[in-house]
Formats: sequence, C-alpha cells, structure tokens
Amino acid sequence: DISNLERIGETQWEIPRQGEMRVPARIFATEDLVRAMDEKVREQLINVACLPGLVGAALAMPDAHWGYGFPIGGVAAFDPEAGGVISVGGVGYDISCGVRTLLTGLTRAEVQPRLEALIDRLFEVVPCGVGSEGKIRLAPDRLDEVLVDGARWAVERGYGTPDDLAHVEEGGRIEGADPACVSDTAKRRQHRQVGTLGSGNHYLEIQYVDEIWHRPSAEALGLREDDVVVAIHCGSRALGHQIGTDYLQVLGRAAKKYAIPIRERELVCAPIRSPEGERYFKAMACGINCALANRQVLTHLVREVFAEILPRAEVRTLYDVSHNTCKVETHVVDGTPRRLYVHRKGATRAFGPGRPEIPAAFRRVGQPCLIGGTMGTCSYILVGLESGERLAWGSACHGAGRAMSRKAALKRWTGRKVVAELAHRGILVRAASYRGAAEEAPGAYKDVTAVVDATDAAGLARKVARVRPMACLKG
Ligand code: 5GP
Ligand code: MN
Ligand code: MN
Repeated sequence: DISNLERIGETQWEIPRQGEMRVPARIFATEDLVRAMDEKVREQLINVACLPGLVGAALAMPDAHWGYGFPIGGVAAFDPEAGGVISVGGVGYDISCGVRTLLTGLTRAEVQPRLEALIDRLFEVVPCGVGSEGKIRLAPDRLDEVLVDGARWAVERGYGTPDDLAHVEEGGRIEGADPACVSDTAKRRQHRQVGTLGSGNHYLEIQYVDEIWHRPSAEALGLREDDVVVAIHCGSRALGHQIGTDYLQVLGRAAKKYAIPIRERELVCAPIRSPEGERYFKAMACGINCALANRQVLTHLVREVFAEILPRAEVRTLYDVSHNTCKVETHVVDGTPRRLYVHRKGATRAFGPGRPEIPAAFRRVGQPCLIGGTMGTCSYILVGLESGERLAWGSACHGAGRAMSRKAALKRWTGRKVVAELAHRGILVRAASYRGAAEEAPGAYKDVTAVVDATDAAGLARKVARVRPMACLKG
C-alpha cells in the first residue's frame, strides 16, 4: 500500500507535509522499487521530517530500507543556524563505512590464470572476520594519531602513496576530529583493528569491467572494458560502533534537555550548536579518519599481494567514498549558498562536475560513486551530476539494499552451498565464516541493477560502468 505517497515524477514520490512534519519526505525510486520498499522507510522518513532545522525534505535513495532511526539510504541536511540537529541514527554505527576501488592496470585475461593464487594469498594476508586483528597494534594514545590524520597517517608510515591520498574523499583526512571526544573503551576496542576488513557485509572483491555506458566519464576514471579492479568495502570497525553506542546515550539525554521531539529512540539527536552535538561531530570525524586509514592500510596489503603474484600490476586508487557520514557542505538553497550538515546513512556522496571537493582529474565529469551489488551478480561505478545536487545535496544509492534479513537468509541458505555454487560459476569466494557467506547470499539482496537504473533515471548520478566479480574475500 503506497497510498500515502504522491507521485511527483517518474522516479520521485512525496509524503506531503502533515502533522508534526516540518518539511515533506521524498523517495527516489521507480514504482516497482517503491512498492517493494518496506513500509518502515516511510514511517522513518516522517520521523526525520519532524526534526528541527531540516532543510528541503527528508530523503530516501532507491535502495532504502529500515534502519536504526533513519532508514538506510536516508539523506537529510540540517542548518545549524536554524536549530538544526545532528544524529547518531543519521550516520549509522559503522561510521564512514565506504568503498575504495583500486585500478590494477591488468586485464581479465592477465589476471585469470593467477586468480586463485591471488585470492588465497589475500585471504592469508588480509585480516577478516568478527573481531579480527591486524599486524598494526596501537596503544590508545598512538591511536589518536590515526583518528586525527586518517589515511595520511597510514601513508606517512609507508602504507601507500600521496597519489592514493589525492583520490580519497577529503584527501584522506577530515578536519575537526578530536580524540578527546572518543571514549577509552572505543580506543581500546580498536587498538588491533586498524587495517582489518571486519565481518559479514564487508568485502574485498576482484572485479572486471563488463560494460561501459558513458565513455568520457569512464576514460576520465581510467576504466576500459575487461580492466581488473579491486573493491574494498569496510568502515571504522569497533571504534565507529563504540562511538555510536556511546553517543546514543549522550544525544538521548541531550534531546530531552533541549526538548527535541523524538519519535523513535534511535533517532535521538542534539542541536549542532550545542556542547553535545559538537562533541559527537568531533568524535564522528575521528570515526571517519579511522575508516579512511583502515581502507588505506588494506590498499597497501592488496598492493603487496599483487606485487608478489602479478608483479606487472600497477595498483592505484581510483577513488574512495564513504556512505555513512555527516559532513559540512555548501549547498545552494533558493539561490543562496548555505553551510549544511548533510547526513548520509547508507547513501553515497555524489557531487556533480565542478565541485572543488572532487579530485582535479575527475572535476570535469563528476565525483566517482562506488556502488556494491552482490558477490554473485555485479556492482556499479557512477559519477555525480549537477541535478543530483539540486535533488538530494549530491547523493546517490550505496548498494542493492537487503531484500531479506540476515536471519531469514540463514534459514534459506547454507554458506557452504552458496560458496560452491559461486565457484561453479567461476567466482572464487573465501569467507571468514560460512555463516557470513549465507547471510550475504546474492539472493538476500535486491536487484542492484534496478536500483542503479532508478538512480540514473532520477538524475541523482550517472551510470558509467558495470563490474562483475571474479573473486571475493568476505569478512
Ligand atoms: P552495507 O554498507 O549496507 O552493509 O552494504 C552496501 C552494499 O554492498 C549492500 O547493499 C550490497 O548491495 C553490497 N554487497 C554486500 N556484499 C557484497 C559483496 O560480497 N560483493 C559486492 N560487490 N557487493 C556486496
Ligand atoms: Mn557499507
Ligand atoms: Mn559497514
């Protein structure tokens, strides 16, 4: 039943302002996707639309589904000068979870004979699984350096190159991080987890470019058909999760103190301009830097493995973009530029051409937008569009989105069978746990192609290339 939705375009739906809503709610999706979307998305968008200082509308991307507080696939921009708020639920627990894609300079035909050796070696070298620990061990006070300097910390220690940093959001380091706002518990939990993949939905995948839709963009990104790339999907591990847990309490108390109407416990928030809101922002920035450092160290590990197995490879960072953040950005609202705090939870930043935040090499075509699909189907590379900035503050989908819960997936599949079936199709999977492989079975996700096509049709981002999996390391 989608009767509370007004269709305002081919791929745009709106819940008009009503009741306590301060702004409308809007969903970007085709009719099929919006019908298949769980109803909770609309309920949660309405809750978000009731928060103070929200600019424009509460938004959902085509891959939206239920999440804690905000839906996953939710986007919301708040104006600090208008009493705008910041929320743990608007960022997500895995702060700065995101995707980094690496170019290898190799073709599918060159990699195929060494594929098994590659994935086996990666499985040995890349720490993965729940609570996995890496070679880098940092005492809590040393960890502070990571939280402040992000991927730059890693590159300074030899885990990567300045060219990597030039192709990471924020140049690999976000401003405003203050480790004093992060609890010792969070730091202790993280001290052996820098440079680890994590579990379940996180992956390191060897992919090849299968189809290209927009040649000028693909060229600027350095992508040709049959090129082999590596995608790394992970976030801020235990640290990010603990920051979320800690600040859910802090913001819960703050919401009461500042009398902010909270319609769902996980939606608690504080004014951006309040001690509590400022502290969360500074802690969250630490989480972002932690994730950027993490993907940088993993990049280094991938580079080492390629150097060993396929020494002709030239591993370079194409781009690194997060999909769980709150960022301060300038956007034009009714003709006037404003500084907004843009929450993207399970939504990828997708800035259009010309934005100064985009690396020079891509500025003409728009920011690369890296979208996971499943280990059995395909994934996509898009670029941001100017229209997307107008529609959704420069945001796009982040993946296929789950079609069923992990629990339901576990009932339906066994990990062993999932892995065997993929192997039969030539896709080599190495998983830290078979349980994880079952939870992440390709059938547990929506059709990523439908999601990406809707994203493209809505004008949020432009479809550039499709990649297909050759081998996948599952956390
Ligand atoms: P999330 O950040 O919400 O956990 O996941 C992002 C997206 O990654 C999911 O929506 C899903 O489409 C995608 N994904 C999950 N597992 C895999 C995988 O093994 N390989 C690829 N290519 N994508 C995946
Ligand atoms: Mn993610
Ligand atoms: Mn994550």
